[in-house]
Amino acid sequence: MICTGCACLCDDIELENGKVHNACIKGVALIKKAQNTHFTPVADGRKVDGEKAIDEAITKIQNSENFAIYGLDTVPLRAQQIAIDIAKKTEGYIDDASSLCMGVFVEEILLERIKSTTLEEVRDRADFTLYWGADPFNSHPRHISRFTYYPRGQFRQKGWEEDRYLAVVDIRESYTSKLAKKIIMVENDEEFIQSLIDVANGNTPSAYLRDAVELITRIKKSEFGVMFGGLGLRYGLSDIGLLKNLLDELNNLTEFYFIPMGCHPNMRGFNELLFASVGELNSYSFRDGIRDSTFSFSSLLTKEQIDTILIVGADPVASLPFEIASKIAKANVILLDPCPSYTSKIADVVIPTSVSGIGAGGEMIRIDGKKIKFEAHSLEEITDEYVLKRIEEAI
Ligand code: SF4
Repeated sequence: MICTGCACLCDDIELENGKVHNACIKGVALIKKAQNTHFTPVADGRKVDGEKAIDEAITKIQNSENFAIYGLDTVPLRAQQIAIDIAKKTEGYIDDASSLCMGVFVEEILLERIKSTTLEEVRDRADFTLYWGADPFNSHPRHISRFTYYPRGQFRQKGWEEDRYLAVVDIRESYTSKLAKKIIMVENDEEFIQSLIDVANGNTPSAYLRDAVELITRIKKSEFGVMFGGLGLRYGLSDIGLLKNLLDELNNLTEFYFIPMGCHPNMRGFNELLFASVGELNSYSFRDGIRDSTFSFSSLLTKEQIDTILIVGADPVASLPFEIASKIAKANVILLDPCPSYTSKIADVVIPTSVSGIGAGGEMIRIDGKKIKFEAHSLEEITDEYVLKRIEEAI
């Protein structure tokens, strides 16, 4: 079976007599929680059955004047597409976590302004891997062992001992940096990017001279390099153009690719579906027919611009800054999620749905763009797709 615990979407998971094999600790926790959590549907503070909760959700959406959909990064493509159709029908807003994290990188890749590749290519060919502002040891626990540093790949049979070089750029040491052959601690990401560009061009940088020379020398010696950009890089950049310039320079030295370190299993799926539908990745208003940062979920909340929110597979009360998250409860909140969360505590309607990969089958698009298909392993639960379809048909 597939684990949807992070964007690795590991496809070698086995369940045997209640035991989970091959998953990391994070995956095991998700799969066990999915099997053991008994979560009750709620509508306006009363425990109800699932169908009654869906009816309440429909009524709230029908009575809404400013409606938004948020989340969706943990559910299969079909459910995401129905949510986009609901936003279109209601002339509502739609957004996911990518507006706060990896959307800016994914957009460059979809517009073919940055060269990207698949994790399988990295496993088979990469001899230089750089994690920048990411700590996959904790966020994507099997990323390093399945795809980048430790595996024997088709053209990298000697593995990390002789065939691979791992470098980390970060603001501080991390669990991942302790495994690397080179760690570069930077306080200013853009300054270090500029230093790398300078050295690649044969110029002397104004900062980070020794580290920049060492990294560029290493990249020159490699045959296939890849940079994984995490949240640390995302928030260290005010201008995506600077990163693009660096990647262009590195491609003059060797074959070099970029893959975002998105955490959510199907964030890229949502980005691609919305892109195919309206030409934008996130923060979209169907009423205005445009994407704008003022239509991001956090902006809409800040301005108290929405009266009803459908949250699917996300916990924004836990993940958004407190001053923004505290405004969620001012709206009618409808939550579809497999497990109790901070958001379920304040939601007006809670509809428990199955965990993707366990109670729901379908397809997801991994962060490197590869489509992954998976089957459901237990069919007794309500799926996000079923609930969203009921809503879509009713409105
Ligand atoms: S690395 Fe991610 S997808 Fe793989 S088992 Fe762990 S949580 Fe699941």
